[in-house]
Amino acid sequence: MTRNDTRVVRIGDRVIGGGNPVLIQSMCNTKTEDVAATVAQILKLEESGCEIIRVAVPTMEAAEALKQIKKEIHIPLVADIHFDYRLAVAAIENGADKIRINPGNIGSRERVKAVVDAAKARRIPIRVGVNSGSLEKDLIAKYGGVTAQGIVESALDKVKMIEDMDYDHLVISIKSSDVMMCVKAHEEIAKKTDYPLHVGITESGTLMSGNIKSAVGLGIILYQGIGDTIRVSLTGDPVEEIKSARRILKTLGLRKGGVEVVSCPTCGRTRIDLIGLANRVETMVTGLEGLDGVKVAVMGCVVNGPGEAKEADIGIAGGIGEGLLIKKGEIVRKVPEEQLLNVLKEELTAMAVERKK
Ligand code: SF4
Repeated sequence: MTRNDTRVVRIGDRVIGGGNPVLIQSMCNTKTEDVAATVAQILKLEESGCEIIRVAVPTMEAAEALKQIKKEIHIPLVADIHFDYRLAVAAIENGADKIRINPGNIGSRERVKAVVDAAKARRIPIRVGVNSGSLEKDLIAKYGGVTAQGIVESALDKVKMIEDMDYDHLVISIKSSDVMMCVKAHEEIAKKTDYPLHVGITESGTLMSGNIKSAVGLGIILYQGIGDTIRVSLTGDPVEEIKSARRILKTLGLRKGGVEVVSCPTCGRTRIDLIGLANRVETMVTGLEGLDGVKVAVMGCVVNGPGEAKEADIGIAGGIGEGLLIKKGEIVRKVPEEQLLNVLKEELTAMAVERKK
């Protein structure tokens, strides 16, 4: 896949754009003022693979909390500001690695300029964020409703405003909960600007609906080489956002690494709790290192399982009270059902040791 050649922008110690890897972001749902809870959540997200974290800054206390939060985490910290330019300035002064604003709701040009000047002084990027829900009335009238063109024009107007203030350390995000409108808007804006794009489907919903909308939307957008950072927005634990984002990137071949688990859909031949087993295997492999690119198959029956698991490096197939350990489609041995998970783990651990040699 050819990635769009966007400008390189530094966020803390990470670099996006210019063909650098697409980074995974999430946003805390703790109160930012509660430093301990926010740090705990960020550390958990880091462990899951989060690479940039955003926090809401609705109060001066939250802006001041950034200083301590930053000391205790290891990934770039982005401050999300709505309306009050003083909070943006305070967030920057307290060490935010990037701020996210919609200049449209910050108010007068002078106020936006105060934020831009503060960002300029510390050379931190500004993410110019525009959502379909907050599109200006004149653009809604011009395009006969909320449209992809309107969203793009709104974002580029704001970018121009900041460029006119002599600052171009920018990232753009345009969001819509309408997946295909979001896709169209990204296709349009990618033709018109080379600023890095943060891509996400906003208000995409609960786990199931959010995952599907994000996979479809982000999939189409990223497949065209568009996008430098992503967020899967879910109404739920942000750790789930990271897991989904990783899967989306891996599926598209934009990320390598880790163990891939494939499992059969189960059918009338299944005589084992395969759904439970597949979930346990998936959790088990996330803790294993040194097995990048290894494929593990979890199959529901001993009749078709070994054949269907041929493309996997290693696999297990369930029978009645016992299962099979399979390597490259060949049956290695029979294993009592309750030991399948452990045996698989031992084999994978041995494989990791072997790979290290
Ligand atoms: Fe059914 Fe066996 Fe195929 Fe799973 S591997 S879908 S249980 S035939």
